[in-house]
Amino acid sequence: MIYDRVALIGLGLIAGSMGLRIRRDGLAREVVGTARSAATREVAVSLGLCDRVTDTAAEAVRDADLVVLCVPVGAMEDVARQIAGHLKPGATVSDVGSVKRAVLDAVGPHLPETVDFVPSHPLAGTEHSGPTAGFPELFENRWCLLTPTGDSGPATDRLTRLWQAMGASVETMDPDHHDLVLAVTSHAPHLIAYTMVGVADDLRRVTDSEVIKYSAAGFRDFTRIAASDPTMWRDVFLNNRDATLEILGRFTEELFALQRAIRTGDGDMLHDYFTRTRAIRRGIIEAGQDTAAPDFGRGKTPKGSAA
Ligand code: NAP
Repeated sequence: MIYDRVALIGLGLIAGSMGLRIRRDGLAREVVGTARSAATREVAVSLGLCDRVTDTAAEAVRDADLVVLCVPVGAMEDVARQIAGHLKPGATVSDVGSVKRAVLDAVGPHLPETVDFVPSHPLAGTEHSGPTAGFPELFENRWCLLTPTGDSGPATDRLTRLWQAMGASVETMDPDHHDLVLAVTSHAPHLIAYTMVGVADDLRRVTDSEVIKYSAAGFRDFTRIAASDPTMWRDVFLNNRDATLEILGRFTEELFALQRAIRTGDGDMLHDYFTRTRAIRRGIIEAGQDTAAPDFGRGKTPKGSAA
């Protein structure tokens, strides 16, 4: 048992997975949860995501040793305001937002000095959201990045133990560096997938639904990513604007270079480029972040993916 009482604010995919795992493995004596809508709170009770569900965030955090904000990034500040006056002195406050600098700036100023704020980001997710989407193995073999600032050593160590007990490998990182890394590995790829599916949707009107009927593996993978929660991803882009724009600028330059190679028939350039990218895929498999099994949307897909 790592904490006595854990409070989860927001009860969707991430919080639901945390609640199920913490309860299954006895990592806290009690998990208390709350969500904005009564419908989500009811589902959370029926699925056993928490031991107890409260109507307000202020009630949920009372006497909690660990409070985790599991709402969209754009809602973090409002939640911080609601809980600030009700936190137990000595408690740790964390979040699971996909962007770290904006959350630090939005939440940090509202918290009393008597608590430690240790932001976290589990690189685990699926395209599904809401209280029914969670499962206790979500964080298994995934990274969780912590971005503590200031003097919160013991609180960071304890939170590290919780994430490790939920199956994740933990590393600490500077928040700005986190945002740049995630812009490359997650945020820009999501935007590109949204764009590609949007283009295909426009085209669908021309090709009379052949895009859906004959959709090949590459496009299907894009559609899976592009099915991710619209609110969450809107907030990610609005709150990691600079890093995402920087990466998209580089992406556009590379795209133009490939476009030129195709137009001028520069097969060597294309072959060298694709050889380099293939090596990156192999590196990801060797690092245990995916399997080499062929999967073109027909077989069993790994449940969790980085987000
Ligand atoms: P989710 O399944 O959509 O659940 C979001 C929860 O937040 C719901 O309980 C929802 O309440 C509540 N909520 C939404 N808007 C709110 C608002 N304005 N005020 C208060 N509560 C609000 O989301 P999730 O996928 O678990 O994501 C939660 C956080 O984890 C986000 O910050 C996201 O960036 C981060 N994250 C997500 C992934 C991923 O792949 N999904 C991965 C890593 C980190 P109702 O149900 O009552 O509307």
